[in-house]
Amino acid sequence: MADLTLDHVSKFFDDDGSKVVAVDDASVTIEDGEFLVLVGPSGCGKSTTLRMIAGLETVSEGQIRLGDDRMDNKPPRDRDIAMVFQSYALYPHMSVRGNMRFGLEESTDMADGEIDSLVEETAEMLGIDDLLGRKPGELSGGQQQRVALGRAIVRDPEVFLMDEPLSNLDAKLRSQMRTELQRLQEDLGVTTVYVTHDQTEAMTMGDRIAILNDGELQQVATPLEAYHRPANRFVAGFIGEPSMNFFQMEVHGDTLADDSFTYSLSPESEDAVSGSEHVTLGIRPEDVELVADGSADHTYETTVDVVEPMGNENAVYLDFGDESRFVATVGGMRRVEAGETVYAHIPEDAVHLFDASSGDALK
Ligand code: ATP
Repeated sequence: MADLTLDHVSKFFDDDGSKVVAVDDASVTIEDGEFLVLVGPSGCGKSTTLRMIAGLETVSEGQIRLGDDRMDNKPPRDRDIAMVFQSYALYPHMSVRGNMRFGLEESTDMADGEIDSLVEETAEMLGIDDLLGRKPGELSGGQQQRVALGRAIVRDPEVFLMDEPLSNLDAKLRSQMRTELQRLQEDLGVTTVYVTHDQTEAMTMGDRIAILNDGELQQVATPLEAYHRPANRFVAGFIGEPSMNFFQMEVHGDTLADDSFTYSLSPESEDAVSGSEHVTLGIRPEDVELVADGSADHTYETTVDVVEPMGNENAVYLDFGDESRFVATVGGMRRVEAGETVYAHIPEDAVHLFDASSGDALK
């Protein structure tokens, strides 16, 4: 067992003579036994990163190592890695047993009986032992997913790579499999890199998450760190639902101003923004408080534009009487209606500040 390291890894594609940078100088060490979720919007380079680790794609620059062993120059079969795909990639003409045996028959010299008991044990662990005789076409999506997992598990690899493995399942099964997968990974202790574009999946499953945008790693952190201390505006906007509210503000000493409102800063925040002319003020919807009156600091008279029920909470869209709209989430019991005047408190300790041009966090 060993750490998996990406050391300044880049991937360039040639698209009809023009260079596509799919992954740009990514460095991260995934610790032995860790569950790392690689998350980001469509086209940010998640699959390409995973495929380079698997050996399905060459590395243009940099190195990939397992412990001290360089692996980016090894063929996929010598990498001791098992990959689970979104499409499951099961062989349709083979039974479940056949599918689970297949990788082992190729890669080990285990006796037939030994392979059989390993397959049966794993199938039992995954609750698919009564399906061993069926073909993939005779299984539900969730059962096929378990077979794909089983096939990876029997190989007892050093690393699991998973590319959106739950995205073809319905919402209920997806959340059930999320928990199962996490437990399984913890029990097996196999280093795992899991790709998803779904930030909820990332936040709930990962020991740490690596957030990618435009081929560049933005932050590698625990889900809570990424939520509370986003490294930049992109991470702040990507993590959290509904997304963080952002306001473009001019800096005037200890006060920020835009066309709709002004915001006074604590000495600590004033220090953080000193030297900048423009900053982005961010506040999460769940940190905006609706209060009885406008007497306290950082409290603004606003008009309720739309109320969107979200089950146990409501998303309340507010404006300052102009175009500048922002959202607050409040408990479902708090009744507010469109057109109503309400007071919104934007607490200073919950405010995030970002450099307006680089997007880097200042506070
Ligand atoms: P998705 O969530 O949509 O699957 P992703 O984050 O996995 O996206 P990648 O599939 O890794 O993104 O693609 C990253 C970038 O590299 C994209 O701009 C994509 O168009 C480009 N790309 C991927 N494969 C190739 C290729 N074979 N040739 C040229 N460009 C490619």
